[in-house]
Amino acid sequence: MPVIKPSCVRDLKLRVNLAEVVSRVVALRRAGGSRQKGLCPFHNEKTPSFNVDSDKGFFKCFGCGKAGDAIDFVRETEQLSFTEAVETLGQRYGVAIEYEEGSGPSREERSLRQELFDLHEQAAGHFHEAFRATGPAGHFMRAYWVNERRFSAELAEEFKIGAAAPDGGGLGAVIQRKRYSEEAIRHCGLFFVRDDAMITVGALRPRFRGRLMIPIRDHQGRVVAFTARQTALTPQDDPSREAKYVNSPETPIFTKGNLLFNLDRARTEVGESRPFVMVEGQLDALRCWSVGLKTAVAPQGTSITEGQLALLRRYHAEVECFFDSDPAGQKAALRLLPMALKANLEVRFLTLAGDAKVDPDLLFLERGLAAYAEVRKTSLSAMAFACRALLPSPATASSELRSRAAQGVLGIIAAAESEVSRAAFIAEAAALLQLPASALQGDLRRLLGRSDRGGARAPAPPPAQGSGTVTPEHDLLRLCLHFEQIGRPLSTAVPHDWIDQRQPAGVLLNRFLGELENGNWPGRDHLQALMENDDEKSLVASLLFDVPVLDDPFKVAREGIRRLRDRALGARIRQIELALARTPSDFNDDSSSLLRELSDLQRQLRQPVILTEAG
Ligand code: ZN
Repeated sequence: MPVIKPSCVRDLKLRVNLAEVVSRVVALRRAGGSRQKGLCPFHNEKTPSFNVDSDKGFFKCFGCGKAGDAIDFVRETEQLSFTEAVETLGQRYGVAIEYEEGSGPSREERSLRQELFDLHEQAAGHFHEAFRATGPAGHFMRAYWVNERRFSAELAEEFKIGAAAPDGGGLGAVIQRKRYSEEAIRHCGLFFVRDDAMITVGALRPRFRGRLMIPIRDHQGRVVAFTARQTALTPQDDPSREAKYVNSPETPIFTKGNLLFNLDRARTEVGESRPFVMVEGQLDALRCWSVGLKTAVAPQGTSITEGQLALLRRYHAEVECFFDSDPAGQKAALRLLPMALKANLEVRFLTLAGDAKVDPDLLFLERGLAAYAEVRKTSLSAMAFACRALLPSPATASSELRSRAAQGVLGIIAAAESEVSRAAFIAEAAALLQLPASALQGDLRRLLGRSDRGGARAPAPPPAQGSGTVTPEHDLLRLCLHFEQIGRPLSTAVPHDWIDQRQPAGVLLNRFLGELENGNWPGRDHLQALMENDDEKSLVASLLFDVPVLDDPFKVAREGIRRLRDRALGARIRQIELALARTPSDFNDDSSSLLRELSDLQRQLRQPVILTEAG
């Protein structure tokens, strides 16, 4: 195993800006001081509880408890080992990684995922070169791109559009020259490889031939797959000859349902009144981009999934759907609605006035960005869209049709998790369907009641954060972290046996006070060395974020000490009282010493706690 020099890891941590690292994945907002907040990438949430403090180099989620530094973040979000995460960050920040003597990584030691990322980058470069090349295949594809798809050469450059020659264009040889592992070649999805076949150039049958190649990037901009458009060059013996689009199969780096085309670019373009625009296909998204609508994303030729919507929600809460007005497009839109409501996305549907048929690709091609402003003007809310789809002409509909439509709409509304939004949807739907809201409300209650019994809607309890119920250990630990001048006096004022070490805060407080007492306190910014596991890291991170607003921290510290003392001495007092109750009333030595101890304890309890800056 390659071992990275600790000095190198330290250097890297100094160079890396945590907020910058995190914002590749999470949209962050300022939250006071050096702190920023966003939606947690490690659990599903609707209000941000993921905190980042760039100065301290720490992140912490108050929802699920995940915490750590920049390296931890890259490890977790990119599923890398420690070494790989350090290498990735090193590459991004231009820090050369140094390894302990003789332990550098060999080709075999790179992870399969890293190899697959690299291999796809190579393949994308290969296809793109073929697209630009002067040969007949390149010439044909460029003409196809410009004349038939009516896209510009600049757009092809920007998105690295490629060409797969009818014979595969020698991709197999290119990949083999790079000496990827057999496992990577088998699993990259670019070739058909028989399980029992040796990996030789001849054995590598390319999956994509005679097709226009569109690289698919994950939300971090890494090529993870391809979509291949059929052309006149697609050979007869292509096993998917008739398919207009062929996608890479799923691989260790590509899961269709967790990826949206163009999200890597769109996520940096969304903002106030610039929502995501969901279109049906990759070429639609490219069309949007080409006219300057840069927030468009598209699924991977499959239905939109909850995972994709949750991914969107991480960056922005609003999405406009712009689907074909054909039945397939309308069906896709209706399928998406409950999932979007569940993900707490605010959805609108872009349409043309009246019943005009819409083909987003054509519309933008002909009218450019001006068309976007127009379809936005006549856009429909989630409920308006659903009601119109389920009951096209409410004025003349029979009551039976009306109630059937209502059931459909209620099925969608039921997916929303907040009661407030459900109530708002009900009011809107009732008006649109011309039904009494109270009736819809009752039906919804019955519908939800049914799923209640399935136990599906039980909301998660909010994480306990109140300070009224926390232990004195917790309070004192927090004070130590935020008011470092308190640490030393505290370490001499608190006997170690007052601290309850059955709780994590007690274990840490005991350890910290020990270090303070011995003059070994490393300072708040270098606590990593004092922590032994992830739970401790998580606890400290949450305390670091929990900045107390106090006039007099010493007063609060005295109160904490008093609580520790009362608890410890109180327990001893109860023990003694119990022992005395059991002994006969005539005094003996035992009971007199117990009585002495008791009065001593009671005297201690009456004394004020003294704690001053001087210690
Ligand atoms: Zn979380």
